Amino acid sequence: MKYVFGPVNSRRLGISQGIDLVPPKVCNFNCIYCEVGATTTLTCERREYIPLPELLAEIDSLFADPEQIARLDVFTLTASGEPTLHSGIGTVIRHIKAKTDKPLVVLTNGSLLFLPEVRQDLLAADVVIPSLDAAREESYRRINRPASCAPLAEVIEGLVAFRREFSGKIWLEILLAMGINDSPEDIAALAKAVARIRPDKVQLNTVARPPLESFAKPLSREELEAVAASFTVPVEILVDFTSRAREKFRSPSEHEIIEMLKRRPCTAADVGEALNLEPPATSIILEKLAASGRITKTSHHGKQYYQTNR
Ligand code: SF4
Repeated sequence: MKYVFGPVNSRRLGISQGIDLVPPKVCNFNCIYCEVGATTTLTCERREYIPLPELLAEIDSLFADPEQIARLDVFTLTASGEPTLHSGIGTVIRHIKAKTDKPLVVLTNGSLLFLPEVRQDLLAADVVIPSLDAAREESYRRINRPASCAPLAEVIEGLVAFRREFSGKIWLEILLAMGINDSPEDIAALAKAVARIRPDKVQLNTVARPPLESFAKPLSREELEAVAASFTVPVEILVDFTSRAREKFRSPSEHEIIEMLKRRPCTAADVGEALNLEPPATSIILEKLAASGRITKTSHHGKQYYQTNR
């Protein structure tokens, strides 16, 4: 399958069946912390970046295995870029929801929600996780480096409008990078925007994996906790994997490990956690793949990450 991946053990969502809606790296942002790599197509054009019939056929073949579907906690629409740029996202959501009662989550940078048709497309989802990393223009430009078609004022109005229209859950993710979007003015502006948007919760994050730009640095847990006190809605700090009941370990396969690393750099522990793999065997396979040149190793903040060659 080309567009359906996993399932993976997601720290936020449980056992998640991922579906990629746009190829690397089509996005209307070029965030300094992006884990996918530099944006090669910076665009706000919505179109079928992946042919819709192919996507729907892969989804149908998933549902041909009811046992596999029963294991899942959630379906997650994501992308190696921005999924709402796919003009068929509404069709994909309705297609999945017609087949299952399992929750469907959309991960998005949230910047296209000012378009009524994008808000309409996401209405059938259960949870939408949009981002809002800055509520001041200069910080927004520094951290997200957006295409000119996504002005900050409209992005915030889009989130406010979506809250009015959407009856599912909105978990607003805010990623803070040291010295970029974490000044007291930034936090005050974000708190004001969050009070208007009224998400069900804020998920506060920082630069945890090897970022696109080496100047993107993380905040400490203590700094994130201090920021968390600024918001009037519940705040969850996303720093470590939450512990969850583990299924029995499976044997790792090179193919699924490479497929996961294509999407983001991971430590051996990340890979083991996400794919439910036995730790020593996972490390042995990662080292073997690195020695053969099929993946590379990078060190970031004292941790060893593996990634596919970009
Ligand atoms: S982090 Fe998301 S929104 Fe930002 S550039 Fe990467 S894919 Fe696009």
